[in-house]
Amino acid sequence: MREGRRIEMRGVVQGVGFRPWICRLARAKGVYGRVRNDAAGVTIEAFGTKQALESFLRQLETPPPAAEIHELHAVGIPDENVETFEIAETTDGDELRISIPADLATCPECVAEIFDPDNRRFRYAFTNCTNCGPRFTICDDAPYDRSATTMDRFRMCPECQREYDDETNRRFHAQPNACPVCGPRLRLCSPRGDDVESSDPIAAAAAAIESGQIVAIKGLGGFHLACDATDDDAVNRLRLRKRRDEKPFAVLVQDLEAAERIAVLSDADRALLTSVARPIVLLPRREGCELAQEIAPRNPLVGLMLPYTPLHHLLIRETARPIVMTSGNVSEEPIAYTNTEALERLGDIADLFLIHDRDIVTRCDDSVARVISYRPTVLRRSRGYVPNSVRVSPPFEAPVLACGALLKNTFCIGVGDAAFLGPHIGDLENLETYTSFEESIARMTRFLRVSPEIVAYDLHPDYLSTRYALAQVEMRQIGVQHHHAHIASAMAEHGLTGPVIGVAYDGTGYGTDGTAWGGEVMIADYAWFERLATFRPVPLAGADVAIRQPWRIALALVQDTFNGQAPLDAFVVFSSRPMREVEAVRQMIAHRVQSPLAHGVGRYFDGIAALALGRADSHFEGQLAMEWNNIADPVHTGAYDYVLDRRQRPWVIDLRPMISDIVRDLLVGVPAATIAAGFHNTLVEATAQTIAEIFHERGKLPVVLTGGCFQNARLAEGVERAPAIQTAVYLHHRVPPGDGGIALGQAVIAGAIARR
Ligand code: ZN
Ligand code: ZN
Ligand code: FE
Repeated sequence: MREGRRIEMRGVVQGVGFRPWICRLARAKGVYGRVRNDAAGVTIEAFGTKQALESFLRQLETPPPAAEIHELHAVGIPDENVETFEIAETTDGDELRISIPADLATCPECVAEIFDPDNRRFRYAFTNCTNCGPRFTICDDAPYDRSATTMDRFRMCPECQREYDDETNRRFHAQPNACPVCGPRLRLCSPRGDDVESSDPIAAAAAAIESGQIVAIKGLGGFHLACDATDDDAVNRLRLRKRRDEKPFAVLVQDLEAAERIAVLSDADRALLTSVARPIVLLPRREGCELAQEIAPRNPLVGLMLPYTPLHHLLIRETARPIVMTSGNVSEEPIAYTNTEALERLGDIADLFLIHDRDIVTRCDDSVARVISYRPTVLRRSRGYVPNSVRVSPPFEAPVLACGALLKNTFCIGVGDAAFLGPHIGDLENLETYTSFEESIARMTRFLRVSPEIVAYDLHPDYLSTRYALAQVEMRQIGVQHHHAHIASAMAEHGLTGPVIGVAYDGTGYGTDGTAWGGEVMIADYAWFERLATFRPVPLAGADVAIRQPWRIALALVQDTFNGQAPLDAFVVFSSRPMREVEAVRQMIAHRVQSPLAHGVGRYFDGIAALALGRADSHFEGQLAMEWNNIADPVHTGAYDYVLDRRQRPWVIDLRPMISDIVRDLLVGVPAATIAAGFHNTLVEATAQTIAEIFHERGKLPVVLTGGCFQNARLAEGVERAPAIQTAVYLHHRVPPGDGGIALGQAVIAGAIARR
């Protein structure tokens, strides 16, 4: 007696070898019917005896390694008279939409093959299977078939074709399937593009790295610049040539053991390092480890990643030492991804190029993540995560394009019940990144077969993303306040429709009153927000100049605290500057000349860190804030005084009592680590008290923590666990807390406003 079941599965189930796996499983269990991708996942129609179906269903719960099942529903359907089990074609537009998967790290079976001298793929750098390999970065169109990828020009040899056609094979329908006979090849060349003869390009590149050279290597989503991470001279040279002041370099290590020698890992860190997305993971560096000092100057954290392509595996095995793997670009330009572009732009940086003939379609930087409150948090969401969607509710009635902000830009396309965040574009401050932004949007809309009808943008009139949006005259344009967007992004990630209490702390974001907001506590849903509390504003002498020269912010803070009578001479950060300059800036602040007010919590980090650490300048966004966070004494529990001023709306969190006490502590020589701890504890207490008072007035609501400041684990965990907040507190995990996640919030807000 046969029965039927319709089984719907949601999660990461497409492009990860899922359908072939289902097919094999069904046939092994004597189950008939079909499997197909649909708009939201995979649907199976299965027919067979009750026992066969039950055993099949049980097995579905342990999917192949790269897949992730979030939901599984089965309902009874009438039996159909079928005697085969097949993969049904993907035809419908909705189905095509999500058929392009994210790139997957090389699976253990493929790794074993490339190190097996008897295997035909021994040392082959482009080995992959249905469980692993390039996806999004080589894909030109939907649906995800070989003909839509840059593997199209390589004709499979008979042996590869046999694997591809054999449903029992691990390479059944593996679109980028290739081998040394038929697939892409590596090539070594000079910075001028001339061939460098070598029987083994990987060994030659490894030797160059060992001898202190800088090698440009074509990876999955773009070029890396690589050098020996234990060689101070090499790392220094790379820094100079790349014109990268003090920003940390990411380091590739062979395996967890090698990572363990450099950094202290928790179980959550190990899981994150070995996840199929293989992000760069920020970890506490071990004192006295083998890494060159110049990797991350004055930074106790280090960004490590494990190999995620066969090329990386082969290379790192060869060098047997950690390698710097930093984006192949100069300063703030986008990562180079074509051979020609790399030779042009990286020719002055690299001594040698290791390139190949499998083209990259979409540039995709390495993703960056760290563990916060025992769970992974994506800080830069790109390779390995894009274009996986975030499911949103309620669904979009019309397709939305959200253009993101300025720094660490990503865009987002909302369609149906899915929001697709695009790859990391970078800071939209030059023509190259802007071009990359436009191209990337065009490609993503093509992949998704969608023409956005609504365009969402940040209220800041000068952002290039805003200007782009305002030029889309055929779309309905909806401006979204920056911190409201941060909050909505956290809500969308957690499926909260509001109202919530949103805590959005960052450096800056354009407020509805034209000032720079950035220490905002709001009550909000998708279509509406009310600003309930903010931080006492700081004048930024010279506006953006003050952000690069945070001694100016320090000056503004102490002058504000001491009514213009601060003991300036006592602090190196001021005495290190020419007296005339300090006086000029003091005048600017006193008379509010070119000194716009800013509410950003990030500005307090910058200013107090500059004061306490005696550091006048910041070389990249958040540099001093991160240092200030990193030196904080982990066990010190004391906090400073502050005032929550509720006489006005929005309420004002006034940190002048804290600043006055910090000045006193600095003058009597209290260690910076203790002061930094007290500073963090004060922010936590002030935030928790503000939330508690809001609960008192408005009732208890879920709380979301968002904005770049919540990349700071101590701050996020402190507020999350604050005894004053007895309610659910949500942190970001899959979507960045910083501006890299803001486009998601813009999209859902625009969707809600359009729905009204
Ligand atoms: Zn594989
Ligand atoms: Zn082949
Ligand atoms: Fe922001």
